Amino acid sequence: MAGPALIELVGLVRTYHVGGTEVKALGGINLTITEGEFVAIMGSSGSGKSTLMNTLGCLDRPDGGTYRLAGTEVAGLDRDALADLRNHTLGFVFQSFNLLSRTSARENVELPLLYAGVGSAERDQRARKALERVGLADRMDHHPNQLSGGQQQRVAIARALVNTPRMILADEPTGNLDTATSIEIMALFQALGREGMTIVLVTHEPDIAVYATRVLTMRDGLIVADRLQEPQQAVASTPPPVAAT
Ligand code: ADP
Ligand code: MG
Repeated sequence: MAGPALIELVGLVRTYHVGGTEVKALGGINLTITEGEFVAIMGSSGSGKSTLMNTLGCLDRPDGGTYRLAGTEVAGLDRDALADLRNHTLGFVFQSFNLLSRTSARENVELPLLYAGVGSAERDQRARKALERVGLADRMDHHPNQLSGGQQQRVAIARALVNTPRMILADEPTGNLDTATSIEIMALFQALGREGMTIVLVTHEPDIAVYATRVLTMRDGLIVADRLQEPQQAVASTPPPVAAT
């Protein structure tokens, strides 16, 4: 899988200053991720996984090294250009779903489009398509509290997909889900991966990392292992139908 590099980190450093001492959350990371890879990032608590993800997501600025996202040097962009690159390149999925509770699934998925100034008819159409893609065609008007945890996470994935990103960044997306539901979510990520989506996912569970094509292990702000693997196929008990976009 030698597609173009979507992520290129060279010597990336992120230092936190806490009460007079320095913590190197990232101690000089070199990493290339190419289009279509499904990468799991593992490592114990405090090893730097979230700092790395925040950097990849352009939510945090490194204090050393370079980050090229989709061929563009992130440090050289002004705020608008950075927001633009993020919106067109990245979709985010979180452990806690981060859905608005008083709003339907469809309206939650429309939100990024609303921020982007997309008109209401197109918003509606694109949100419906994204929800169909994650197997929730029949739940569009449900509110989060009427959905199971797995369904809520699928709404969040639809929201991440609605801007047609090239890559999904997911920090512990199965951390709040039971095993069967976690496998369902991994089956969905694998289906998206087969369509060419690049996925970077943080997990501390080896049982989840088996579904990725590549596993990175972090320790003390460094990548200490990086291996390709034949992924196990996630078989969901109720497979969400993933249709092409
Ligand atoms: P992980 O996600 O693997 O648990 P983090 O990236 O959250 O690790 O943290 C890496 C290191 O950076 C830890 O030592 C943590 O205490 C430190 N750290 C993370 N965020 C901050 C912050 N905002 N201020 C100070 N130190 C931080
Ligand atoms: Mg973390």
